Amino acid sequence: QKFVYDFTEGNRDLKDLLGGKGANLAEMTNLGLPVPPGFTITTEACKVYLDSGEEPAALRDEVSAHLDALEQRMGKKLGQTDDPLLVSVRSGAKFSMPGMMDTVLNIGLSDTSVEGLARQAGDERFAWDSYRRLIQMFGKTVLGVGGELFEDALEAAKEAKRVAVDTDLDASDLKKLVKQFKKIVKSGTGRDFPQDPRDQMDLAIKAVFDSWNGDRAKLYRRQERIPHDLGTAVNVCSMVFGNLGPDSGTGVAFTRDPASGHQGVYGDYLQNAQGEDVVAGIRNTVPLADLESIDKKSYDQLMQIMETLETHYKDLCDIEFTIERGRLWMLQTRVGKRTAGAAFRIATQLVDQGLIDEAEALQRVTGAQLAQLMFPRFDEAARVEKLGRGIAASPGAAVGKAVFDSYTAVKWSRSGEKVILIRRETNPDDLDGMIAAEGILTSRGGKTSHAAVVARGMGKTCVCGAEELEVDTKRRRMTVNGTVVEEGDVVSIDGSTGRVYLGEVPVVPSPVVEYFEGRMHAGADDADELVRAVHRVMAYADRVRRLRVRANADNAEDALRARRFGAQGIGLCRTEHMFLGERRGMVEKLILADTDDEREDALKVLLPLQKRDFVELFEAMDGLPVTVRLLDPPLHEFLPDITELSVRVALAEARKDANENDLRLLQAVHRLHEQNPMLGLRGVRLGLVIPGLFTMQVRAIAEAAAERRNAKGDPRAEIMIPLVGTVQELEIVREEAEQVIAEVEAATGVGLRLALGTMIELPRAALTAGQIAEAAEFFSFGTNDLTQTVWGFSRDDVEASFFTAYLEKGIFGVSPFETIDKDGVGSLVRDAVAAGRATRPDLKLGVCGEHGGDPESVHFFHEAGLDYVSCSPFRIPVARLEAGRAAA
Ligand code: PEP
Ligand code: MG
Repeated sequence: QKFVYDFTEGNRDLKDLLGGKGANLAEMTNLGLPVPPGFTITTEACKVYLDSGEEPAALRDEVSAHLDALEQRMGKKLGQTDDPLLVSVRSGAKFSMPGMMDTVLNIGLSDTSVEGLARQAGDERFAWDSYRRLIQMFGKTVLGVGGELFEDALEAAKEAKRVAVDTDLDASDLKKLVKQFKKIVKSGTGRDFPQDPRDQMDLAIKAVFDSWNGDRAKLYRRQERIPHDLGTAVNVCSMVFGNLGPDSGTGVAFTRDPASGHQGVYGDYLQNAQGEDVVAGIRNTVPLADLESIDKKSYDQLMQIMETLETHYKDLCDIEFTIERGRLWMLQTRVGKRTAGAAFRIATQLVDQGLIDEAEALQRVTGAQLAQLMFPRFDEAARVEKLGRGIAASPGAAVGKAVFDSYTAVKWSRSGEKVILIRRETNPDDLDGMIAAEGILTSRGGKTSHAAVVARGMGKTCVCGAEELEVDTKRRRMTVNGTVVEEGDVVSIDGSTGRVYLGEVPVVPSPVVEYFEGRMHAGADDADELVRAVHRVMAYADRVRRLRVRANADNAEDALRARRFGAQGIGLCRTEHMFLGERRGMVEKLILADTDDEREDALKVLLPLQKRDFVELFEAMDGLPVTVRLLDPPLHEFLPDITELSVRVALAEARKDANENDLRLLQAVHRLHEQNPMLGLRGVRLGLVIPGLFTMQVRAIAEAAAERRNAKGDPRAEIMIPLVGTVQELEIVREEAEQVIAEVEAATGVGLRLALGTMIELPRAALTAGQIAEAAEFFSFGTNDLTQTVWGFSRDDVEASFFTAYLEKGIFGVSPFETIDKDGVGSLVRDAVAAGRATRPDLKLGVCGEHGGDPESVHFFHEAGLDYVSCSPFRIPVARLEAGRAAA
């Protein structure tokens, strides 16, 4: 096994082995671009080290061989006293983990080689500054000495000399500082700062390996769902210096604007500086375009390289470069991050340039990005005072009254107020308040802080780490640059930009939603570029996708919206929604009926109402399938709350005027009360226990279909039985239903061909799918209940109870109610698909749980071979896009 690759040996496809940085450095080297020579130690070596605590036996010799080759190429040896070769040792995992792991620069400097460097560079100050930086970085990251000790010493040196910036310290100041730094190392570790350059390098490599398991890195991986067992590669690269004078410098560049996608010159440059000076913000950078007048030759070369990279990677690249005394060096490149809008624009721009095809364009965007573009946004034209800016932690636009503790958040929101919960930082005690709030704002913490993690999990708007805010929880107020915001003042937060406003910012609908709604046409002159790009990408997806996309909708209005959004039918009409509101009383009568006559009377009242609902729905979805599910939830949901009713009856009894109806109602509520209603009398069980209920519903569906047919419509109703656990249940209901349908056909003279199918939402149904398919023409996987019953998690309680703890502990990256659990629930789905089709090859298969609109789950359902997914109308575009991406 080979553990070390020279930059000339790798390529960009080796990211697993060489990490992102190493693979791209190799790719650039092989493109003939000016990359400082070096080599990469593989993630495999890291894994061996992390597993066994020791580096692989062969590693030392391999590193020696590559170092020899590097020294030969450079014509000098690592740490050579008269002219030292210096190297950087940098981490680089497969996925970028910015700032999460360690890097050490200037390895090879020692008490003697620093003099050699000074002579070679003709610059004493530079050499001692480089040595100072090495001891500081090495001390902190490799030897674990507190970083603040070095910083304090540096500050003290500046104060003593009454200067503000590092660059005002001269060679003799820096020499003194080096002495001090070495003392700090000695007293912190009990040992001298290592003078042997090879020791320095080996220790740094080990430190980078170790940093893979640092707390920051672990938390970041959990958050970003990066597996913990990948390990990091280590890049050893010959140093080039941007701080050797005015003809040197360092910068970053993008081949396109990551915000708009437009081509042009985007980036920043800092003269006479090293990379970390840019990050530290010691001096202000200048726009990259200014480099043209500073160093035309390097600028022209950089422009050419950027074009080479874009054509080669066929994508937006970001770049880090350094100019050393007029010579340009490429230090890093990678396919760059971009905003959601830019992702769509860039994908279509690249198609137009002939760089990628439609299938590839689909891989350049995601459903999550599309969903982000569908959030309403703040009207940027509105004149509202900006208070400050934090980190955009969870997207959305939220407006509400400022509250500074969870208790108030809950209290106010119960009384109908919209609130924004503002804290320095949140902890698990704030959970109730976070749930109650429209949005969460904190002054501390980054994208992986508690507030950010939990808000994203809840899909709630969050801005965190807004450091200008001084939050004073005790006095229930915050101060922002002199402005005082009291409890109850209205604030607005934008979770997509991190902006915080005082007052209410008006919200405008997203242009992308306007487009899907048909209120904006992609071809119109004033359609914006984003809408055109989305329109085109959606067309690519629709052309290739195999999965059909239906909607979960129970009324004509939702059905029509779903159609506008591209739905190809209704996959789930929950009829219980038709039993609420003013019809509750009728259902109550049905439940309370003592005799067959009473019950039949109640059903007779409901029948025409149900029929009307279906006529409207079939009309809205004319020509497309509509799956109507018979009544599912427990009956007590239609009855009054047990406690309230008991109190009312008790009070009435005390007054001696108890009313007969209330007494009966209370009896019924008691009779139907269940400890565990989700596992109780619901779904098909209800249909079997309450005579006439399901047949009434079937009759309403059949009569509605006949009426539509007579009106020259094209109704395509399908009848679905919920919560089936055994084929026997289905057979009984089926027999009754067929009889009713035949009656309606005979009475109306219309042939109906109504398909009858079932939900697969209990483990037993999935496990006996082969038998169930005997009696079902279609299956629709109810992954909400299936997840609930496979995991044994209450779908109504879990997100508010231990789920947060599970998220924080990394047991889930995401709720299994949100993204399908492929290993558990998913494996039942796969097996049921196979067993169902074995019984009935033309069995139609779909899913109608929440997962039907979740990007990752859509890919799973594509692979599992379903025919369609069904989701809420608003998520239909995302499902169409992801179905296209899965098939492309
Ligand atoms: C399901 O269980 O996945 C489902 C779609 O049914 P409901 O959510 O109505 O229980
Ligand atoms: Mg269900």
